[in-house]
Amino acid sequence: MKIAVVGAGAMGCLYGGLLSDVGNQVFLVDVWQEHVDVINQKGLSISGVSGDRRITSIRATTSAMDVGICDLVIVFVKSTATRLAVQHAQPLIGADTLVLTLQNGLGNAEAISESVGEDKVIAGVTAHGSTLLGPGAIRHAGQGPTVIGPLVPRQDNRLEKICTAFQQAGLETIVDDNVMGLIWGKLMANIGINALTAITGLQNGELLQYAETEELLEKAVQEAREVARVKGITVKEEDPVAYVKSVCRKTAENRSSMLQDITRGSRTEIDVINGAIVAEGLRLGVETPVNRVLTLLVRTIEKKPLAG
Ligand code: NAD
Repeated sequence: MKIAVVGAGAMGCLYGGLLSDVGNQVFLVDVWQEHVDVINQKGLSISGVSGDRRITSIRATTSAMDVGICDLVIVFVKSTATRLAVQHAQPLIGADTLVLTLQNGLGNAEAISESVGEDKVIAGVTAHGSTLLGPGAIRHAGQGPTVIGPLVPRQDNRLEKICTAFQQAGLETIVDDNVMGLIWGKLMANIGINALTAITGLQNGELLQYAETEELLEKAVQEAREVARVKGITVKEEDPVAYVKSVCRKTAENRSSMLQDITRGSRTEIDVINGAIVAEGLRLGVETPVNRVLTLLVRTIEKKPLAG
């Protein structure tokens, strides 16, 4: 299968690398020139839970024009860059191309659909975790299932083919048609964990060691669940608060991606996570005071110059 990954950071390199390692023709497309050069010269280094390896079969580029039309395009930029990245990815997309997003937050599938058409978009969630170590190197931090589904009912078996290609690469993958339920389910974990860890500097598991952060986690998730209910979204997890707490325990020593972004001085995904709940709540007449405070605090920290 000919595959392009748009946004070859921690997650893009993980999926791209593993898919390339089993014989797919994979191209990484990223704006980071040094990263692209190191991958082309020395290969992509993956260490961590799936074993240590250097993948030299993979190609990287800053221009989608170099790649041409692909069977599958995987979008793995941060949600803040989705719209722009997909506009620049047009040379990758032909009549039979499918575009997959496994990004966190709300609105990615919709933003991609605006550029390529809803019928080409598949979306889902991933339980894998990955960390960028530097140019050309990532650490596979944790693994779990990938669940994907179409935005509109599908007429062919292209999704099953993608599923098979992912399985062959060691990425456990299943198809589920309730895409929005999947995205909102994962969103609950990001709602409960990311902003709170970014503001407090706590690791995921530590959120449950303080009554104050535990209460805020519960309230933020309950607000999001109410927004989902009013919107008519059936979230997979019956008890989202219990689910988010179980994620905190399973990933107890992780520093969330939003905490990492804040520490690096990078822009976070707050607007498509807690901020999206506030916006949807406003639209639907659901009160979301805790998510609003969390959003405003993270936006303030984003604007503040880094200490030192
Ligand atoms: P990252 O910051 O490591 O990688 C993003 C990459 O996109 C960078 O290499 C950057 O140079 C590139 N980029 C930025 N603008 C671009 C553009 N216009 N065109 C092409 N490339 C561009 O991010 P990540 O951690 O891999 O996360 C990607 C998405 O996956 C996010 O939505 C995140 O929430 C989600 N996610 C991350 C993890 C994780 O463990 N890292 C797990 C699950 C989901």
